[in-house]
Order: sequence, then C-alpha cells, then structure tokens
Amino acid sequence: MHNNPTDQGFADAKLIAIQDYKEKHKAYLAFLSQKAKLSWLKDGDENTSLFHQSIKIRKVHNQVYSIYDMKGEWKDTADGVSQAFLDYYKVLLADEVKKAIFSIPGIKAPGPDGFGSYFYKDAWHIVGDEVIAAILDMLQQGKILKEVNHTVITLIPKTKCPKDVSEFRPVSCCNTIYKCITKVLCGRLRQVLPDLILENQGGFAHGRYIVHNIMVVQDLVRHYGRKGVKPSCLMKIDLQKAYDTIDWHFLQEMLELLDFPKQFVDMVMQCVSTPMFSLMLNGSMHGFFKSKRGLRQGDPISPLLFVICMEYLSRILNRVRSMPQFQFHPRCKGIGLTHLCFADDLIICSKGDYQSIYLLLQAFKLFSNSSGLKANQQKSSIYCHGMQESDIQRVVDVSGFSRSMLPFKYLGVPICSKKIFVAQCAHLVDKMITRIKVWSSRNLSYTARMQLVNSILLSLHMYWAQIYVLPKSVLQDIVKICRAFLWSGHAFSHKPSNIAWDKVCSDNQTGGLGFRDVQTWNIAFMGKYVWALVKKQDNVWIRWINSVYLKDGDWWEYQPVSTASWYWKQVCNTKEKLKQFFTLAEFENMPQYSVKQVYEKLVGNKPRVHWDKMVWNRLNVPKHRFICWLAVQSKLQTTEKLTKIGISQSASCLICGLDDETHQHLFFQCQYSRQIIIAVHQWIGFSIHGNLVQLLRKAGQSRASRFRKQVYFAVVGAAVYLIWKCRNTSFWESTIPTVSQSMKALKQMVKSRIQVVLPKHVSKRDSDWFTKL
Ligand SMILES: [Zn+2]
Repeated sequence: MHNNPTDQGFADAKLIAIQDYKEKHKAYLAFLSQKAKLSWLKDGDENTSLFHQSIKIRKVHNQVYSIYDMKGEWKDTADGVSQAFLDYYKVLLADEVKKAIFSIPGIKAPGPDGFGSYFYKDAWHIVGDEVIAAILDMLQQGKILKEVNHTVITLIPKTKCPKDVSEFRPVSCCNTIYKCITKVLCGRLRQVLPDLILENQGGFAHGRYIVHNIMVVQDLVRHYGRKGVKPSCLMKIDLQKAYDTIDWHFLQEMLELLDFPKQFVDMVMQCVSTPMFSLMLNGSMHGFFKSKRGLRQGDPISPLLFVICMEYLSRILNRVRSMPQFQFHPRCKGIGLTHLCFADDLIICSKGDYQSIYLLLQAFKLFSNSSGLKANQQKSSIYCHGMQESDIQRVVDVSGFSRSMLPFKYLGVPICSKKIFVAQCAHLVDKMITRIKVWSSRNLSYTARMQLVNSILLSLHMYWAQIYVLPKSVLQDIVKICRAFLWSGHAFSHKPSNIAWDKVCSDNQTGGLGFRDVQTWNIAFMGKYVWALVKKQDNVWIRWINSVYLKDGDWWEYQPVSTASWYWKQVCNTKEKLKQFFTLAEFENMPQYSVKQVYEKLVGNKPRVHWDKMVWNRLNVPKHRFICWLAVQSKLQTTEKLTKIGISQSASCLICGLDDETHQHLFFQCQYSRQIIIAVHQWIGFSIHGNLVQLLRKAGQSRASRFRKQVYFAVVGAAVYLIWKCRNTSFWESTIPTVSQSMKALKQMVKSRIQVVLPKHVSKRDSDWFTKL
C-alpha cells in the first residue's frame, strides 16, 4: 500500500482487515469479561483471594505533582518533583538516616528489571538452566552484578495528602535473581544459627517463640507498683532505625569471629554492601545511587544478619553478669537473666541499684559504638521499683531515657503488674468494628458474611488469645459483634438470630458453620504452655518458671502460691481446666501440641447431622448453601415464625396467601413450589416429596452415581434458594417471577456453576447426561 497508494483494491482490503480486527478484538474482550464472570461464579463468595480482593477498598493510585523539597522550596514541575525526592533519599542513605526504608514487597511485585517470580516460573523451561548457572556462578565467584543487586524504592504516602518529602514510606523491591541468591545463603545460615545464638534472643531462630519473651517480662514486673519489695529496674530500649544503621565492618567482623568460612562471609558482604538504588516516582525511575551502611528490610537475609549482630550484645552482657559489682534483677539470678531480645525489641534488667544499672548502660554503649545501633532516647523507657528517688534521677540523667510507669506495650501486647483489664482489650473490639464499617456498605450475601466472620473477624484477636486468657466480657463482645454481622451485616443489631450462636459454632458435620467458640479456643491456645511444661521443653520461659515457681516439682499437681504473678496463675488455671479432660499421660504422649485437637476434645462430641454433605456440597452455588442450611433446619424467618414473635401481623404465605407460611408449606405444599417440583422432575428425573431432610436423604441414598447425586443436591439447593427469593421479592417488590422464569434461572445457575467446578473424575455416561441437561 505504501508503494501503490492509489490502488483501490489494497485500500478496500485494509478496511476489511481493520473491520475484522475490530470484531475479533471485541469478541476477545467479551471472552475476557466472560472469563472474569466465570471465575466469580466459580469462586465468588468462597474464601478465596478473589473474594478478598473484591472486598477490599480499591487503592487509589497516587500521583505526586508538587511537593516541598528539603529546603522547603515548592516544586511543581515533573523534574523538580523527582529531583526533590532524589536529593532527599540520596542524603538519607548517605547520611545513614534512612527511615524504615525497606519493607518486604508483595509476592507479585516484580523487581526493578521488570521480571517477577511469575516470569521465571512461567518460562522456567526456557530460562531455567541459565538462571541456575548464573546464580551458581555468582555464589561461587562471590561477585554480584550491580544490575542484579539493583533495588527500586517506591514511595507510599503515609498521610492522605502528603506535602513533605518525609511523609512517604519507602518500600524496596529487589530483583528475583537477587532474592534467589540471598535465599540460598539464608538456608545455609539458618541451619547453624540456633547453635550460635543465645536463647535470650527470641526472634528468627527455630523453636524460639515470641510468647516466651512476653511471658517472662510479664512475670518480671509482677511486683512493680507494690510496697516493700526489693529494688528493681527494667529498661525497654528502642533501637533507632535498627536495620538501616548497622555498620558493615561490624557485621563482617562478627561473621569472621563466629568462624564462618571466608567465601561465605565475602558473599554475604557482597549482597549487603553492593546494592544500587533507584527511586520510582509517578511511574518512572530516577537516579542510581549507593548506600554506606544498613540492611534492607525487603531482603530475606536481613533478619538473620540482624540476629547475629545482636548476639554481640548478648555476649557483652554475659561478661557483665559475671562481674562482682553486678547484681541481678530479683529472681533472675537462677537463670542468669540480664536481657531479652526479639528482633529489634530489647529489654535489659538488673537490681535497682545505680552500680548495676550503670554497668548495663556501659555494656549497651560499647555495643552501640561498635555496631552503629543506637538507642532512640525519646522512645526508650526506664521502669523502676523500690529505688531511691536520687538513684532514679541519676539513671535518667546518665541514660537519657525517660522514666515511665506500667503498663507498657511489648511486642504488641500490654505488660502490666495487675490482671489485664477490659479497657486494654478495647482496641480488639474497635478493630472489628472498623472492618465491618468498610464492608457494611456492600450488599453481602450470608455466605460472604460467613466467610468474613470466619476468616477475618474471628482471627483479629487471635494473637492476644495465644498469650492471655482474655477477660470474659471481651470475648462476649467479640461474639456479639460477629453474631450481629452474620445476621444483619452490621456491627450492632437487635435483629434476632435465626440460629443460636453455640450451634453456629459447631462444625459442619454437627450442623454448624464451623466457627470456633472463642472462649474454648482461648483455653486450647493457652494449653500449649501447660503442655510445654509437661514436656519439660528447653527454653527461656520454662527455665524461668522452674527457677522461680516450680523448682522442678511436680507440675501436674502444682498449686500456685497467692503471691505468684497473675499471669502464672492463668497458666495454672488453664492446667486445672484441662485436667478435667486430659490425663497427665495423654499430655506426655502428645509429640506435638495441636490446638485443634485439644479444642475438639474440650468441645466434646455433638450429635452428627446427616445433611451436611448435601448442604455444603461442592457443586452447590455458594450463596445457595447458606439458605439451604437454614431451610433444612426450618430456621428461615417465615411469616409464620415472625407472627409468633410479634413482628408480622399475618402468618399467611407471601406467595399464594392460601395457608400459613411454614417451611413445609413454602417448599412443598404451596402451589408455586409444587409447579417447580414438577418442572424439576421433568428436567432431571428426580422426584421430590416429603420434607427437605427426607428429600436430601433420599437423594443421598439413591443408586445414582456420586456425580449425579451431587447434581441433585445442587438442584435442590438452587430450588430452595429461588423459592425463598421469590417469596422475598413478593414481599419487597410485590412481584413474583413466573414458574418458567424461575426454572430458567435455576437451570442456568446450576449448569454454569457445575461447568466451572466440574469434578475431575466423571464417567463418560454422566458427562453425556449432564451435557444434555
Ligand atoms: Zn403458598
């Protein structure tokens, strides 16, 4: 066409081609949207990532058009804005003042080279060998290309309307190839770490558990605030920008002194010290600059290296405790405890005399000077008890930390000398209410709400429930909110529940929704520590308990003294509760503690129902299941029921008006449902009579193949749903779809659902039968 611009034939051909392309493209788009709908049909309302995606608030894409730079000058050109950020971050990195710069990127986010892990997985058959060769080569040579160790910093606004360069949270993003290398190193490091690191560090090493540290601290402060007890002092130190300030030479020296092979040390140092950074702003990349110290938060090896650095502090403190001038915090001498450390959360403690505290501070200073890790003085606190005011003042002056009172927060939970208060748990309840506010604007089905209660609402308090026996009233509030949300879609509701909560909280086989009973679950969680004591596990908490309370006595028969900490009493109480269900031998014979198994034993056996498989059948449309679950138990709120509790004036059927609207009438005797029954019989040849339970049982016992039975269940589920929906539209919209309309909807719903979730093993006969339906 380029050579013969006048040729009409070419021009026509081009037009046709364009037309053709447009049509094909339209068809392609239609196909895509169909695909999207199908995946909804397949997974919609079920507990999948698709469901959670669609329920989230859509993230607003942020563009930065204008900003104040470091000097406070207003920049409103594209170049000006990117320069302002570049200046800011170059200075930050160079001046070792990076602010929590890096955090782990999402699984799907590709690195700066644009290749996400999906790319490598997808194209493994093509690039796999070369990727392996490249990574092995880098590991053997101990050299990393700077392109591979290129890291992109993306900025996420901390406030709704950021005006200053410091109001963005930087998130780092490493290349997938780099992550592979560092994962290999991590694997090697992880194997030897438990042998190198003292048990005072809870984090990251296998079998060291965050809760152990919390439990020991909880116990340390039990006397604080009471009269006439030995002087004690506890310091909670906040490490300033912990990851970002680690000194590279210090890290290298630590690795060498711990006798890691030279090649390994070199490789680690390559990873840590060679990254180049770029800044992602308004969709394009800017700059290419280096850092001088610190570990990246997005890098999997960073936490392990950090633990190694903290080990230096542990070893210094161990020197201190052997000095004759040093005196332990009350009750700490038995296990020689001077500090507890979980990641960058640090607690050090001693007797409340100036000499001992001063030694601790000196040790910390030595550590600070070598490692580069400094205490954030504003955020570090001293808790003193039974000390002279003049001594306290001296400690405050020397350390620069502020004097504080209990309770304080440690590793996300409150530490207090008296029993945990209801008010301290208030934010657990607030968190739930905030979530529900986001959801309640959407018109969610029962099934969707059921998933949200189970996967989100009932798990928000889980972290706390693994650490404390929560106050009864708090647990009751949690239940109240979940119940209200399930039945009404709101956090507060006076709407009566269709089914009692304890019934809802039993599993599917016994007729419930599989929710957990929060109180029993709480005890099952805490039982883990009872079991750990039975098994005489070796960790800092158990050693503490043995040194302070048990004294290697008989745990199963142990009774706490009245002066024991409230926390320890809770553990003992839990043991007494569990003793009603378990023998000592049963606990001793548990190789692993299973919260679920213990929970099930505490709950006990409930009578089994025989319709659960039919109601929760995989082929049923998810939103049909819940209605069917209610219908089979005669728990839908029919007018007959509503009249009994005084909500409705008339009990008569909303569809025909000829009789009272009982479940039996609505689904079997009503003229409308009778016609549906006949139509269903004509369609799949399955006859319907009796009541719902009998009907489902009959479907289950029929001689048909497993697949056909499943189809029958799906059809019954859909029929129940549509009849109930018809009854509701009759009430709200005063119209009723015709029987043939309803049947058309029924067939369509059942068929498209089964097409997408078709079981793998369906015989030819069955699949022919289904195709012809
Ligand atoms: Zn009727």
